[in-house]
Amino acid sequence: MAHNSVLAELADIVGAAHVVTDPEVMADYLVDWSRRFHGVAMAVVRPGSTDEVAAVVSACVAAGVPIHPQGGNTGLVGGSVPASSPTPAGLPVVLSTRRLQRLDAVDQQAGQVTVGAGVTLGALRRHATAAGWEYGVDLGGRDTATIGGNLATNAGGIRVCCYGMTRKQVTGIEAVLPDGSVISHLGGLDKDNTGYDLASLLVGSEGTLGVITAARLRLHQPPGASTLVLVGVHGFDEALDLLASAVVPGVRLLAAEMIDDVGMHAIMALDDLPWPLAQQWPYVLLIEVEDGGAGEGLLLDDALDVVAATDASTAQRLWRYRDGQGEAFNSLGITHRLDVSIPFESLARISVQVREAFAHDPEVTAVGVFGHLADGNLHIEVIGPAENDTRPDEIVLRLVTDAGGSISAEHGVGRQKAPYLAWCRSATEIAAMKAIKSALDPQLLFAPGVIWTAE
Ligand code: FAD
Repeated sequence: MAHNSVLAELADIVGAAHVVTDPEVMADYLVDWSRRFHGVAMAVVRPGSTDEVAAVVSACVAAGVPIHPQGGNTGLVGGSVPASSPTPAGLPVVLSTRRLQRLDAVDQQAGQVTVGAGVTLGALRRHATAAGWEYGVDLGGRDTATIGGNLATNAGGIRVCCYGMTRKQVTGIEAVLPDGSVISHLGGLDKDNTGYDLASLLVGSEGTLGVITAARLRLHQPPGASTLVLVGVHGFDEALDLLASAVVPGVRLLAAEMIDDVGMHAIMALDDLPWPLAQQWPYVLLIEVEDGGAGEGLLLDDALDVVAATDASTAQRLWRYRDGQGEAFNSLGITHRLDVSIPFESLARISVQVREAFAHDPEVTAVGVFGHLADGNLHIEVIGPAENDTRPDEIVLRLVTDAGGSISAEHGVGRQKAPYLAWCRSATEIAAMKAIKSALDPQLLFAPGVIWTAE
């Protein structure tokens, strides 16, 4: 079918205003947040309901048009945008879920809420808080990242150490499968052992198995008042020892985040912030514990260089050093972002080896490391090499897999890491995953090039 007749059919479904072909308007949908990945598309289609998503999918599949689901476009592995040249099946449409804005009242008895895929994480968090609850996922891109994107990437973030990743919050899902059929299982039963867990399968599928249109999510009792401190440390081993000894037994750890001096100076320059401690340190560690807010949940030696948040605005300022890391590295240039999991005993060694690996590389202008200490999750940022130069990615990922780590802790595989999936998944695992992919999407039209390299 010619492009024009598909576009006319899509316009009949969603309204002409929601089939975008103007290159200037499409531009924002075709470059990722880090500006490293660029895509091409026939159009951006913005359905406003699950039925419209199903009709769009059916029309595209009937015409053999690839579909690239997109939420807030804050993904950091290139999976949020289509490929930079047409796939063998032709130009895709970007299917934006941002108009799926369902946000039900919080179910106070179940402690759950049903939410549309296009609602931002920040909006959901505020909705839960206003109803007396806490949503367990939080991350720096909260006001742009969508719930559909969070599910599709199984997002982690700064609260994983107390609530787990996104998959742990999901009690039900609604999605449009690649044949245009709708699965809707939003009852929210805590116990429901009836066959395969399709919600779990779709969580982390990065748009390759269909479009998530809504989710039923578990909420938590909000944490009590907390103590937040920033401490200077020499490295990861010292930070891990400090974390193990400082948190009073029985006190809940809410966050433990590392930032190196490269990232600190980058965010200080971007936001005009001061160095927050008395001395310079190669790393700072942000620790937050739920202890009533009086500081009694942390045992910190007097010799440590510490700053504590004494009120909400100081806490917000201290969090800004961590929350702003992505933007800070973006301000230094095109970033090769490597989100990896590393066994705790190798964190210190890998953080040193990564710097050594690029120390004499004339193209590398900066290497930074920050991340979620309590999860063994590092974000390694290499600035300088051209956006399509995969050498920095390969050097870092090889160090990580040699140490028994994972090439993706929480951002997903996307396009960036698709060539390296076999570095940490066995041939048997990959065969099983491919069988699922081709059973649900036999024409391989969904998010081509994401998780799976084009073959
Ligand atoms: P997008 O970027 O639009 O898409 C991401 C992937 O999901 C793509 O493969 C896309 O095809 C697919 N997808 C999106 N919506 C749907 C849908 N409804 N159905 C099916 N597939 C879909 N991530 C973390 O895990 N932890 C962090 O701490 C963290 N911090 C961040 C901080 C900043 C400042 C930024 C910019 C990003 C951060 N991220 C983090 C990455 C990003 O926010 C997450 O990956 C987020 O879950 C992506 O959501 P999104 O709506 O932007 O999805």
